[in-house]
Amino acid sequence: MINLGIQGACDEALYQLGLDIEELEDLEEDAGLGNGGLGRLAACFLDSMATLGLAAYGYGIRYEYGIFAQKIRNGEQKEEPDDWLRYGNPWEKARPEYMLPVNFFGRVIDTDEGKKWVDTQVVFAMPYDNPIPGYGNNVVNTLRLWSAKSPIDFNLKFFNDGDYIQAVLDRNLAENISRVLYPNDNFFEGKELRLKQEYFMCAATLQDIIRRYKASKFGSREAVRTDFKHFPDKVAIQLNDTHPSLAIPELMRILIDVEKLPWDEAFDITTRACAYTNHTVLPEALERWPVSLLQSILPRHLEIIYHINFLFLEKVKEKYPGDMDRMRRMSCVEEEGEKRINMAHLSIIGSHAVNGVAALHSEILKNDLFKLFYEMEPNKFQNKTNGITPRRWLLLCNPGLSDIICEKIGDEWPVHLDQLVALKKWAKDANFQRIVGKVKQENKLRFAQLLEKEYGVKVNPSSLFDIHVKRIHEYKRQLLNCLHIITLYNRIKKDPTAKFTPRTIMIGGKAAPGYHTAKQIIKLICAVANVVNNDPIVGDKLKVIFLENYRVTLAEKIMPAADLSEQISTAGTEASGTGNMKFMLNGALTIGTMDGANVEMAEEMGLDNIFIFGMTVEQVEELKKKGYNAYDYYNGNADIKQCVDQIQGGFFSPSNPNEFKGIADILLKYDGYYTLADYADYIKAQDKVSATYQNQGKWLEMAINNIASSGKFSSDRTIAEYAREIWGVEPSWEKLPSPNAGN
Ligand SMILES: *Cc1c(COP(=O)(O)O)cnc(C)c1O
Repeated sequence: MINLGIQGACDEALYQLGLDIEELEDLEEDAGLGNGGLGRLAACFLDSMATLGLAAYGYGIRYEYGIFAQKIRNGEQKEEPDDWLRYGNPWEKARPEYMLPVNFFGRVIDTDEGKKWVDTQVVFAMPYDNPIPGYGNNVVNTLRLWSAKSPIDFNLKFFNDGDYIQAVLDRNLAENISRVLYPNDNFFEGKELRLKQEYFMCAATLQDIIRRYKASKFGSREAVRTDFKHFPDKVAIQLNDTHPSLAIPELMRILIDVEKLPWDEAFDITTRACAYTNHTVLPEALERWPVSLLQSILPRHLEIIYHINFLFLEKVKEKYPGDMDRMRRMSCVEEEGEKRINMAHLSIIGSHAVNGVAALHSEILKNDLFKLFYEMEPNKFQNKTNGITPRRWLLLCNPGLSDIICEKIGDEWPVHLDQLVALKKWAKDANFQRIVGKVKQENKLRFAQLLEKEYGVKVNPSSLFDIHVKRIHEYKRQLLNCLHIITLYNRIKKDPTAKFTPRTIMIGGKAAPGYHTAKQIIKLICAVANVVNNDPIVGDKLKVIFLENYRVTLAEKIMPAADLSEQISTAGTEASGTGNMKFMLNGALTIGTMDGANVEMAEEMGLDNIFIFGMTVEQVEELKKKGYNAYDYYNGNADIKQCVDQIQGGFFSPSNPNEFKGIADILLKYDGYYTLADYADYIKAQDKVSATYQNQGKWLEMAINNIASSGKFSSDRTIAEYAREIWGVEPSWEKLPSPNAGN
């Protein structure tokens, strides 16, 4: 409604009917079709591509069950299935006329006309189209999501055998492909069904792209053969991580086996069409599919991958004669242990551009993870710093702040976010500070009312709202935040009369159901909250809340109400982050490490407007080389010792004193994220936060500087860069009234 410019009209229309639009909004399900930042980024990109008038499609899977709903019961995470389609989805339109077959299993045979993939099992891909309107430009793009449909003759042999009932029941097997989203964030799980999902999406999408290309004037047919000469000029396929990387061998297979192009021509077309965005450097997140699984499910693709790799290694050999170690390290095929295909290597080899998602991350790709590839083809490597759509993450979610910005600088900032910089001149203006402070206070009050209504928890709305929301992961260091909470608690207990800046610390996020440590971290946060919130000595000074079921609609309520944004990952682990940008745009101050896009945020606003702490990537590297011994920090800092001893000894789990021994063990023995090494500097930075909050004039000046400096982090800027520097097209926002606007 916002993008179509009909929000006011709809609001009014519902009001006339005696209905409240906010009540209606609460009834709508989140489309939880992603895990965390990666899927949310794609959604922001769709909004920006439509807004910039690009002829772009989003492709994905129409999961019947999205990311699970998180319930907290007795201080523990419980997962409930997300049956989001239960009452239907009014935004989607099935397009049975574009249904396509996808093949699995089978074998490869040699024929006179080349290789053929035969004896396969077929599953159909049914497209469902979802409209993506641009902002005020009368453009509507399409998000096309594939749903698995059993073929009519699936299990026909059972019909002949007479087991009709079983044959009908078995139709579910094929349709299981799009049943449920795998709930891991930043973690690779090499499951057969997951591989089938990835190929299902690639195969359906590529057929769809080629069908559309053939229908265009560029795919003109001479006799029976389509002319693919113009394909890479007309089609750009941006791989959002390696999850769709099978698009590369699939496009090769279609061009060679089906369209009968020679290998070299097919490979040239493929690499010029494809580009790869890397989203993580964490080794446990990188996709490495067992060859045995590919052999059974996608035998022809495995052959093609092997040949791509063979020809690539020939080029490596030519450039670096005799350097066998380099060849081994650049190969798509990993030979040590179970034989696997490294999908990142395949993606680099099969693409003309490779990018990271923040300046620091792109440097790490060039200097570390993909160093040898960078040495060989430096011009392939780019950076595209992530962004967020200002329509959802300011205009929609924070109307109070949007209104006062419009009063100062007009109403074009939602499509020209750089214009926010004009607010800088009012950063020290006491009157504007008062207005910005009032909006923040109203947003905090509204969120406090929601907490009381939905969860029955009472918070002090004048306390500092300190918020840490994102997927629960050791690298994101919710444990570091937890140590700060315990430290504050211990201080209050030690001297209840000491001056204290009241805080409400809120932590939220889902743990992958199979990630034991992440679930223990949630349990610890809830246990600490239980002790802190029920201690009469603590009173109104400190409250700790675990925010249940963190998701986009909750994020839209949190961001406007945040005073402090926690972005405290170990330097070098968070590729970019986008939550950091949402907070900044809504006037929260950041306490953060020099990681991901935090680095660029600090650069935009200046170090005076952000609380930076902790080791840099270089210092982390140094510590790793030297050898990290957590006991050095534990023995050298009495506050750390007290916190860890309390966790270890059952202070927060009196009914089960051993409950959190495992967590203490991680902190002291197995912590790959150096939590204790950053503790002291983190506490110091938090103390500076508390002191600054006492000076509301200073705090609001910083908040205004944050808002004013967030122009760079519009996903419009990100998409304009992808368009110009990878896709070879020129984006532009053109104001056009919707034909129906105002009616
Ligand atoms: C933005 C967003 C994320 C990503 O947050 P990070 O802090 O960048 O990890 C995850 N989940 C939801 C619901 C979001 O809106």
